[in-house]
Amino acid sequence: MEKTALETDIQFLPGVGPKRAALLKKELNVSTIGDFVRIYPFRYIDRSSIIAIRDAAPDMAYIQIRARVTQVNLYNSKGESMDASDAKFNAVRRMSVIVTDGTGYMEAVFFKGIKWMYSRLQPDEEFIFFGKPSVFKGRLNMVHPEVDKEPARGNTGNLNFNSSMSGIYPGTEKLRNGGITGKVMSRLMENAVNMALPCIEETLPKYLLIEKGLVPADFALRNIHFPKDAAALEKARYRLKFEELFYLQLSLLKQRYIRRRNENGIRMPKVGEAFNICYNALPFRLTGAQKRVITEIRDDMKSGHQMNRLLQGDVGSGKTMVAVLTALIATGNGFQACIMAPTEVLARQHFRNISGYLEGTGVKPAILTGSSRTAERREIHNGLEDGSIGIIVGTHALFEDNVTFRNLGLVIIDEQHRFGVEQRARLWRKSVCGLPPHVLVMTATPIPRTLAMTLYGDLDVSVIDELPPGRKPIQTIAANERRRPALFRFMKEQIRLGRQVFVVYPLIFESEKMDYKNLETGYEQIVAAFPFPPYKTAIVHGQQSNDEKKFNMDAFAAGRADILVATSVIEVGVDVPNASVMVIESAERFGLSQLHQLRGRVGRGSEESYCILMTGDRLSKDSKRRIELMCATENGFELAEEDMKMRGPGDLEGTQQSGLPIELNIASLAKDGMILNDARQCAQSVLDKDPTLSHPENRLLAEEVGKDKYKARDYSQIS
Ligand code: ADP
Ligand code: MG
Repeated sequence: MEKTALETDIQFLPGVGPKRAALLKKELNVSTIGDFVRIYPFRYIDRSSIIAIRDAAPDMAYIQIRARVTQVNLYNSKGESMDASDAKFNAVRRMSVIVTDGTGYMEAVFFKGIKWMYSRLQPDEEFIFFGKPSVFKGRLNMVHPEVDKEPARGNTGNLNFNSSMSGIYPGTEKLRNGGITGKVMSRLMENAVNMALPCIEETLPKYLLIEKGLVPADFALRNIHFPKDAAALEKARYRLKFEELFYLQLSLLKQRYIRRRNENGIRMPKVGEAFNICYNALPFRLTGAQKRVITEIRDDMKSGHQMNRLLQGDVGSGKTMVAVLTALIATGNGFQACIMAPTEVLARQHFRNISGYLEGTGVKPAILTGSSRTAERREIHNGLEDGSIGIIVGTHALFEDNVTFRNLGLVIIDEQHRFGVEQRARLWRKSVCGLPPHVLVMTATPIPRTLAMTLYGDLDVSVIDELPPGRKPIQTIAANERRRPALFRFMKEQIRLGRQVFVVYPLIFESEKMDYKNLETGYEQIVAAFPFPPYKTAIVHGQQSNDEKKFNMDAFAAGRADILVATSVIEVGVDVPNASVMVIESAERFGLSQLHQLRGRVGRGSEESYCILMTGDRLSKDSKRRIELMCATENGFELAEEDMKMRGPGDLEGTQQSGLPIELNIASLAKDGMILNDARQCAQSVLDKDPTLSHPENRLLAEEVGKDKYKARDYSQIS
């Protein structure tokens, strides 16, 4: 078959050639003309309007100014002025051009292409300067503006898309250096879109276009690049976003349909005796939410389909209990269960708690971590292989190749974000019985449901939306350095009352060294203010050996230390009910969800609890907002939503967009929640009527979902 324009190598686009093609490939991952036209502008400018210099301000986006050149100055690398007449242009490092439009003056600055610009910008001549305004030494300034004789009427060029707005394309330093400036991009795009348009095929069935009021694919392509007007742009944008999200949802839901149709799960019909013993011996009554979730899990496990469930519950909502009961269903049906924790400290803590719950049930858990000794390790390997170990708690060590299970039936993953999908897949393969184990992923990162299902792929979602009764609200207070003496007095008072205190320092990897320095300085400060005797302070951080960490953690958990100084990496999930104060140092450096997680470490006992956010004096707008939100609410879902609005889900802890089966080009999971919901519903109703997408009117859908890019990294199918 003949290649269409879309498949044509980008180097054959007029104005590109092999060198620029290589650059486009490297910088924008563009190989063909089809790829190129999928690079959309990230902003649009109405180029029909011209601004007076007097009205221009540095916080404006791109603007156009019409002004006359009054002065041109050249400077060498030392910043010395050079005489234009004998200037050797390769010695010129900077050209400053002063222009005026009668309302004020502006400086245009050039560092590159000076010789050519110099010849163009003749004194007293008028030009259009297009660029982003800034202020330098009190004067309006534009660095590397585009310079034209006439105001651009949308797109100039040979094609005349008759557009009143012009798009700004993503650019990089390297692209600009290689001659692909914003203006060149636009010009290339005109050609590319013109070549692409005749071969654009519709990718959505007609009935969907009509039902959803979507514009056709070619209209969308034309208007996303060269919008006829604002309304056309909006329609184009909506269509492209919808399409992207719709196909994402369709592929996810289709996989789910296949998983459900296949009888590929281990059937676990009983709850078993141990479950009942444990349940009846609980020191508290399960919350309604815990009960509901356990029922959902039970239904999955006896269905004959593989369970693939995400359990969301705020910190302290009692997920561990659910994990224990779930594991007991597995052992009650003669299968092994494994519970994965992201860190050694957490694995040990789970092991302790779980051992407690399992007393009297006859089921004994084992633990395997990186620091398990060789002899111990061998014993555990044997126990897993011969099936004598029913429940194993562990860390990444469980992924090792020499670990095999006799009949692994359930994998529970706590705090999902530390485990990649690939790692999960490795566990599947450890199951000898041939069927993939049931999977329960637990997370305290509360994210909206549709988003969760999208981010985590083909998962069902359960939510524990209720905290155990009797929790006292945690008082959250922001304070600065001046109030440190008061903080220390308060800590002493709490310690005198028999309580314990966490002091947490940020650890952000780019500046790890400095962070440790802060931690050490902080620790010294604490030890000086809280001398031994009577005060005992322990410290835990990532540079300690596992034994050291364990020793210090245990000391704090057992009440042998009053204060635990720690880095943020260590602590997630640590349960010390007697700790009533959480001090977070440099709180402005933490994200909302992390602050919330940390705060969740206190308020677990019956005492009044406090979270103190220590911050610097000068906070960015975002930091300030985060601190205010923390003081205003304890609701994790509310905080997560705010977090997402502020940062986008790509940054939300544990929710990397890279986990998606396809990369999103134009839609944003954070900002397009409404379209996402709509797309999911629409995909669901299409599949309800035609689960295999075999009706003729769904031919396009079947074709699209069948493409390689949707070939699911569907690890639930690997067994
Ligand atoms: P998380 O969801 O953060 O993992 P945990 O499972 O660690 O929460 O539970 C937090 C605390 O609440 C634990 O001390 C646990 O014993 C207690 N807990 C769990 N469920 C209940 C309940 N139904 N009633 C009272 N306390 C509970
Ligand atoms: Mg937990």
